[in-house]
Amino acid sequence: MTPTAPDHDATAFKSLDRIPITHLKRVGSRITERLDRLGIRTVQDLLFHLPLRYQDRTRLVPIAEVNIGEDALIEGEITEASITSGRRRSLKIWISDGARSGLLLRFFHFSSQQVTAFKPGIRVRCYGEVRQGPHSLEMVHPECRFQTDRAPLTDSRLTPIYPSTEGLQQITWRGLIDQALAWLDHLPPAEYLPEETLAPLGLPSLGEALRYLHHPPPGTPLIEILERRHPAFLRLAFEELAAHQVSLRRIRAMQRAVVAPVLAGDSRLRQRLRESLPFRLTEAQERVVTEIAADLLQARPMQRLLQGDVGAGKTIVAAFAALQSIEAGRQTALMAPTELLSEQHHRSLSAWLAPLGIAPLWLAGRHKGKERAELLHAIASGQARLVIGTHALFQDDVAFDDLGLVIIDEQHRFGVHQRMKLREKGEQTGGSPHQLIMTATPIPRSLAMTVYADLDLSVIDTLPPGRTPITTVAVPDSRRDDVIERVQIACQQGRQAYWVCTLIEESEVLECQAAEDTARQLGEKLPSVRVGLVHGRLKSAERDIVMARFAGGELDLLVATTVIEVGVDVPHASLMIIENPERLGLAQIHQLRGRVGRGSIESYCLLLYHAPLSGIARERLGIIRATASGFEIAERDLALRGAGEVLGTRQTGVIQFRVADPMRDQQLVAPAQQAADLILTRYPELAPPLIARWMGNREAYGRV
Ligand code: ADP
Ligand code: MG
Repeated sequence: MTPTAPDHDATAFKSLDRIPITHLKRVGSRITERLDRLGIRTVQDLLFHLPLRYQDRTRLVPIAEVNIGEDALIEGEITEASITSGRRRSLKIWISDGARSGLLLRFFHFSSQQVTAFKPGIRVRCYGEVRQGPHSLEMVHPECRFQTDRAPLTDSRLTPIYPSTEGLQQITWRGLIDQALAWLDHLPPAEYLPEETLAPLGLPSLGEALRYLHHPPPGTPLIEILERRHPAFLRLAFEELAAHQVSLRRIRAMQRAVVAPVLAGDSRLRQRLRESLPFRLTEAQERVVTEIAADLLQARPMQRLLQGDVGAGKTIVAAFAALQSIEAGRQTALMAPTELLSEQHHRSLSAWLAPLGIAPLWLAGRHKGKERAELLHAIASGQARLVIGTHALFQDDVAFDDLGLVIIDEQHRFGVHQRMKLREKGEQTGGSPHQLIMTATPIPRSLAMTVYADLDLSVIDTLPPGRTPITTVAVPDSRRDDVIERVQIACQQGRQAYWVCTLIEESEVLECQAAEDTARQLGEKLPSVRVGLVHGRLKSAERDIVMARFAGGELDLLVATTVIEVGVDVPHASLMIIENPERLGLAQIHQLRGRVGRGSIESYCLLLYHAPLSGIARERLGIIRATASGFEIAERDLALRGAGEVLGTRQTGVIQFRVADPMRDQQLVAPAQQAADLILTRYPELAPPLIARWMGNREAYGRV
């Protein structure tokens, strides 16, 4: 750190959040604009932009000791260099450090300078992730330093890696953060947590914690960093959790201040539905129906999350809520994440409600022109009492007459912001509608209370009776042919099967490619089987057609990527093959396998793994085989992997934390909730700057 004295005039600025980043050196309009994209405007914002992870270039690892899947700094002599022109042109460099086997460096993009630089006999240092290639260990596109480079060959401290945006290199981040840290020496950061909440935890000061996180001191044991157990992490995690709690509580209070229609029906329709249903509600379903009914009688909008494992029977619960709204003279909207699911809902609900003389309206993308206009008119005039569709229902041209209740199925694609937008839609028609959000993503209660603190929670914790449990078996991919034969036998017996190809590398393109290859291969090997294919790169209309043919029994085998994860009901499908299950989260495998076992025939899920499995992978597949409850699986998965991964960072639409992990930092959740209460009741003036510090102008809740 080289404090640049004349600029650090602490008297000119009262606090770090008043120093604009433009005051830093080498911050021109381009960098300002890019930082602005991340909501970083002040020196304080920079200091709270925390590393995602750290790289260890302080230590050279002998090639014989590298761990597959981990980053490592290695050094070796180039033994061979060649350019291959197969399906992809690549530069291959073999290096050896004297151990028996060497390591292969692979480059797919390379310049002619690079080709000449890698001469046999030259020593090179490489940093990158070690992978197991077909013939040897590999690094793809490692960073390389040659002995002739002037840069020191090892670093003296761990290298922080910052979350970034296009056009901002890590080296720029490090330069900016160094300048911000120099400011920190002159001005301590403001403290927004009341002393009485901090004292019992015995954590370091904010300044110390920030310094540690940006620059873990040399000699810090890597394990302490990796496990995020150091008090510096805890100090910031605590503050972040408290900030989120404050923010969610404020959102909740705002929601509660809004008026909603009191949906007091005479229960006549609900009674008739009960009488005409071919089954009885389970105790768990009855309980949540009652919880929801009580909320709908309130004059403030319900914000309830209904969790229930796949197949737990959430749709019928939604039907009861919808009827209560209809009895009270209000419309209900039910939204599903895909068109296919919305169609399926339309089918079930039409069947259930037909004896009551209620015909739900289905609005889909395929409704165009005059037909669409008529449907929109039926919605706007209030003639349609129950409207089913996708989230396109809150597109601008759809207007409701008197919306009383909005039901959102498979919540994990709807963040807080979408829920708010929905509410605005209802407000156009006077009063804010009640909201029921349904999800099969099993989120343990402790976690749900943190990330969904603005929602009430209902849980259907048992499955309806009479389900045949799914038998799950792990099979090594060396027995692929046996598995294919099994698919053939099942299909000959009139059953249907799914074959799920999963992410082999971090690329959707490759995943779709794998699915295409598999579909072709299975089609060749099983000429009597009618094979269909769905993947994420097909247009949703094309995907829907294939899914509908499978659901209608026109296809026997559906090869798919993980796009089929959510809620499709094909009762004759009783066999599922999941490739590379070791790459998936347990909750995801569980969701996938929930596609079978929907009818009365015994169902099987085959996990086609690639041997050898690591210890942890074996343990995880063991959990999936032995456990049928999604909630139990989620708890155990959390214990193994941490909250970020269970929630899935890409698509959940829930809060993304910067340092905190509500599962790992469980012991901080209750104190953070207390701190939030204290702030809101005794020190409300601290709430806005605390929220601004942690959420700034960024979206506080997962990017939509
Ligand atoms: P999910 O909770 O996954 O959305 P669904 O609502 O699709 O589950 O229900 C799965 C199946 O279970 C449906 O065919 C539904 O009709 C049936 N079902 C729901 N509740 C019961 C019950 N109490 N008894 C028997 N079958 C039920
Ligand atoms: Mg469902």
